[in-house]
Amino acid sequence: MRTAGGFDTDALARLRAHRRWSVFWVVGYLPFGFALFYGGAPPASGAVILMAWLVVGLWSLFRLRLHECPRCGLLFYAASTWRSTNMSMPFTGHCMHCGFDLDSSDLEPIV
Ligand SMILES: [Zn+2]
Repeated sequence: MRTAGGFDTDALARLRAHRRWSVFWVVGYLPFGFALFYGGAPPASGAVILMAWLVVGLWSLFRLRLHECPRCGLLFYAASTWRSTNMSMPFTGHCMHCGFDLDSSDLEPIV
């Protein structure tokens, strides 16, 4: 849904949710690995599970990179599809182009 000013609130909700999941997959990798190791998981299956976790985390980061900014419409975390990426992703909440803050409630479009 778009606000009267053309701000895409659905895209904002999707981006926020995807960002949370990406942080979960990236930050959770190490604690999950330790839990498997110290929890006594069989080494072979533990390694397979960790590799699957890593693949999901990397896939989540790749998909997050393709999100468009709800305010300016450009890629939120990348200069362009095949160019540089914001290296602090997915932990930053600011658009690489217009500086829109994901945690702010300011839904004003660019003037
Ligand atoms: Zn933007």
